[in-house]
Amino acid sequence: MQELIIGSHVSFKSSDQLVGSVKEALSYKANTFMFYTGAPQNTNRAKIDESLTKEAYQLMQENNIQPKNVIVHAPYIINLANNEKIDSYNFAINFLKQEIMRCENLGMTKLVLHPGSSVKLAKEVGIANIIKALNMVLTKEQKVVILLETMAGKGSEIGSQFEEIKAIIDGVTLKDKLGVCLDTCHISDAGYDIRNFDEVLDSFDQIIGLDKLLCIHINDSKNPMGAHKDRHANIGLGELGFDNLIKIIYHKRLENIPKILETPYIDGDSTRMYPPYKFEIEMIRKKEFNPKLLEEIRSYYK
Ligand code: FE
Ligand code: FE
Ligand code: ZN
Repeated sequence: MQELIIGSHVSFKSSDQLVGSVKEALSYKANTFMFYTGAPQNTNRAKIDESLTKEAYQLMQENNIQPKNVIVHAPYIINLANNEKIDSYNFAINFLKQEIMRCENLGMTKLVLHPGSSVKLAKEVGIANIIKALNMVLTKEQKVVILLETMAGKGSEIGSQFEEIKAIIDGVTLKDKLGVCLDTCHISDAGYDIRNFDEVLDSFDQIIGLDKLLCIHINDSKNPMGAHKDRHANIGLGELGFDNLIKIIYHKRLENIPKILETPYIDGDSTRMYPPYKFEIEMIRKKEFNPKLLEEIRSYYK
């Protein structure tokens, strides 16, 4: 049996860049990770330091982390779906081009992107804008594949239905530069019943094609199916539940696909928040829910 590829969102600080990200992943006993090349909510980005990148690759090699399984996430303020303000649309296009370059410089090949929100425009117009932008951004030469993320369908978000993702892929010329990232919280919020996950997967396969699925975000949800809220919960502490998530994580058809946790930090004492990932990963490896999860996280980090 193939070894589970599991990790979490980790930080990428300007001081130690990818080295810090790898060390953080190792502290969670993860064998992969996902990072933003700067703060997720803004577009200020430090220059990539080559010697730090080299050091990080050394560290990955020593610890059996395969770079092909590592994921980069584009900042969520990039919105390719709305072009009402042409400056913002062009900014988003340019930023994405630079983000692809940063990934190439870091040797990373998988970049997760939220398709975007159409805001006041019709969905079809939003989809057309995304297609136009991607056709401007993607090049034959790039090694980076952009993974369109399945969304919760909050507000005017595009990509909550597999058909919308498929429509984007259909319109893009360089289809081999596109893949999909499935988020368990988002698909449930979007109305897919993850208790019948085989059916969801069949539908994904029929509409998009399972070969396009290159990353899975593993999150529980604070809200019931169809809520369109996008509020992640810790593994086993939300509406999806531990057993349903374990079935997805260990699904035969999803072997070899990196699984990334984006669950919320835990309230510590007063001002501190603690990352749950070490303990969630341990639970997932044991396939056994830990009812003392929160207490154990708090006592470990305090
Ligand atoms: Fe995301
Ligand atoms: Fe996600
Ligand atoms: Zn989310």
